[in-house]
Amino acid sequence: MGGGTVPMSDPGVSDLRSGARVAGPASAWCRYRADGPSRVARAAAGWQGATPAAPGAVETAGPILAGWTMIEVFDTTAARIALARQMLVCPACDQPLRPWGHARERTIRDLDGALLTVRPDRALCTGCGVSHVVLDAGLLPRRAYAAGLIGQALVASALQHGHRRIAAGLAVPAGTVRGWIRGARRSATWLRITGIRAVLASGHDELLAWGRTDELGAALEHLAAAALVLGRRYGLEHTSWRARINVLTRGRLLTMAPAG
Ligand SMILES: [Zn+2]
Repeated sequence: MGGGTVPMSDPGVSDLRSGARVAGPASAWCRYRADGPSRVARAAAGWQGATPAAPGAVETAGPILAGWTMIEVFDTTAARIALARQMLVCPACDQPLRPWGHARERTIRDLDGALLTVRPDRALCTGCGVSHVVLDAGLLPRRAYAAGLIGQALVASALQHGHRRIAAGLAVPAGTVRGWIRGARRSATWLRITGIRAVLASGHDELLAWGRTDELGAALEHLAAAALVLGRRYGLEHTSWRARINVLTRGRLLTMAPAG
């Protein structure tokens, strides 16, 4: 394959075939250049999702005039290689991204209590000049807790546990957990639709269970089914399903609801 770019499918809206792409409001997501030699880098660039960092940012394919976006990747090391080779492209304008230093270092708490210090790479678009942050798919933008831990809190909420009990169990401040639950419940409809679309597009309708009445529970169940499909189809079973959900939702598990 030489030259040009291969559109990456958006698992939320597309038919999940590698390289496929469906036009739509969420089609501004990441692509990678297909003319690079590295399969590793391609694997990294694949299934990255980009998410507007600011709540309420408009999801259009047009250029972003201000601000920056988050690019979620499964393998930050491989993504760094891809970035150095200018094989990642701007989600806004499709031009190659180049390395541009690092985002602020931050410490993240994981499910087992382990502290993880990360310093995500930043990328600058050679076309429109917008900067992006390349984030591990195990992390959510601007959160001090790993996606796995936050996901556990949401699952507990869907099982009707109260936020105080969940917070105590995870050793997280109650107000923080309450904020996660509120954000995810506000976003539940959009999260559910994202999961359903990805599963339906894969042709595995049988994975969709319709019995749940809890909105958040239904959303998580459909996203889990979508993560399963994603893992099977693209050999991503070695990645955590919560990371896959993070890519499917472009890091917006708690913020997918439109602002306002
Ligand atoms: Zn750009």
